[in-house]
Amino acid sequence: MRTLLKNGRILDPSQDLDVIGHVMIEDDQIAAMGPDIPSDDVDDIYDCTGLWICPGLVDPHVHLREPGREDEETIVSGTQAAAAGGFTTICCMPNTSPPLDNPSLVDFILDRAASPEAGGVFVAPVGALTVGMRGEQIADLAAMKRAGIVAASDEEFPIQSSFIMQKAMETCVQVDLPIMAHCEDLSLSNGGAMNEGAMSAVLGVKGIPRSAEEIMVMRNCLLSLHTGCQLHVMRVSTWGAIEMIRQAKYLGAPVTCEVSPQHFVFTEEHVGEFDTHFKMLPPLRTQVDIDIMLQALQEGTIDVISSDHSPHASHKTQAPFEDAPFGQVGLESIVGVTLTHLTHRGILTPLETIRKLSTKPAQILRLDAGTLKPGETPIAQITVIDPGFEWTFDVNKTFSRSRNSPFHGMMLKGRSVLTFSGSEIYRDRHFSDDRITMVT
Ligand SMILES: [Zn+2]
Repeated sequence: MRTLLKNGRILDPSQDLDVIGHVMIEDDQIAAMGPDIPSDDVDDIYDCTGLWICPGLVDPHVHLREPGREDEETIVSGTQAAAAGGFTTICCMPNTSPPLDNPSLVDFILDRAASPEAGGVFVAPVGALTVGMRGEQIADLAAMKRAGIVAASDEEFPIQSSFIMQKAMETCVQVDLPIMAHCEDLSLSNGGAMNEGAMSAVLGVKGIPRSAEEIMVMRNCLLSLHTGCQLHVMRVSTWGAIEMIRQAKYLGAPVTCEVSPQHFVFTEEHVGEFDTHFKMLPPLRTQVDIDIMLQALQEGTIDVISSDHSPHASHKTQAPFEDAPFGQVGLESIVGVTLTHLTHRGILTPLETIRKLSTKPAQILRLDAGTLKPGETPIAQITVIDPGFEWTFDVNKTFSRSRNSPFHGMMLKGRSVLTFSGSEIYRDRHFSDDRITMVT
């Protein structure tokens, strides 16, 4: 079986490649790629004229909610949403119920992700750093690594004791696992619900100071520098945190970081009339933070763009602002939002956009993904994007089981239209049938 993706703009950051050309898939693998490859004996041809052909996108930060909150998301619905959003590999977070802190739960997730009804994308689990994510006793990371975790994190329950965090980093160096860290000093955030500043004062909502994030980013960067533990800082939101990471990189600490679209699109002003869809952790900040974030994206201090896909049941998001949960669903809007707000505005080139959405997260977490080089990944992972497609994001038409999105109703330009993981796992209805030729 030979499938040809024909005449697209090939964007492969793993080879610094941006050329018009073709990609041949043979028996689930990428057999050849480039401007001039043999194209005889082909079974199917997908005409990709005007479209981007990229390595399958990789999201390092996704909440699938199973086990425990299957009403909000399941491994099946979450992977279907991922495929529709253009992702072929996602990392799932351990803050499930019970938490992902033992090898049998890792087995359960990998089995469910490989089931025929799932979306066909690879799920790389992130294990809990401490037992029960209680920040006390380091989990059996070696056993979980053998079962298949690619990183460790206590996610929304960040380790507060510097001593325990240092011990966790030393253990991760021994077992060779990166730590993904949500950075928050809980004694400073202390139950706050939005950015501490003028808006929180006007609205009378308890604020989360920027120092709650920055102190923990600084501490974790220093511990990473001194232990040599690979640290990936999850969705930074303040200019101060970005500055800490810039310094840590300068000092040679093995530190990387990500941002999520909500933090470069919205500010604290969007909380407006207590709209819970804009309640984020870390909270939405200010235009100054966005300006520095855009610079840091451009110069590479920010390595990755992740969705932090966080599904929540609607009865929870309809609660009063202070009681509502933090977060938003993002797998199916991230490509459109990123292209609209970064690429089409000249903040990132198309190649750098794909680097942050695919190649870089794959490299950081050492995943078999993020490249179109023949033979580099066990099976072909490819995403085709229509960069000029204009559409309105409608969260009610997504595969996710949850509807909490601040991007609902937003006009976007750019969308993933075709996803391959070995074979086709998703085709958007806007990728019309006349673009596909079944050669008989
Ligand atoms: Zn998260």
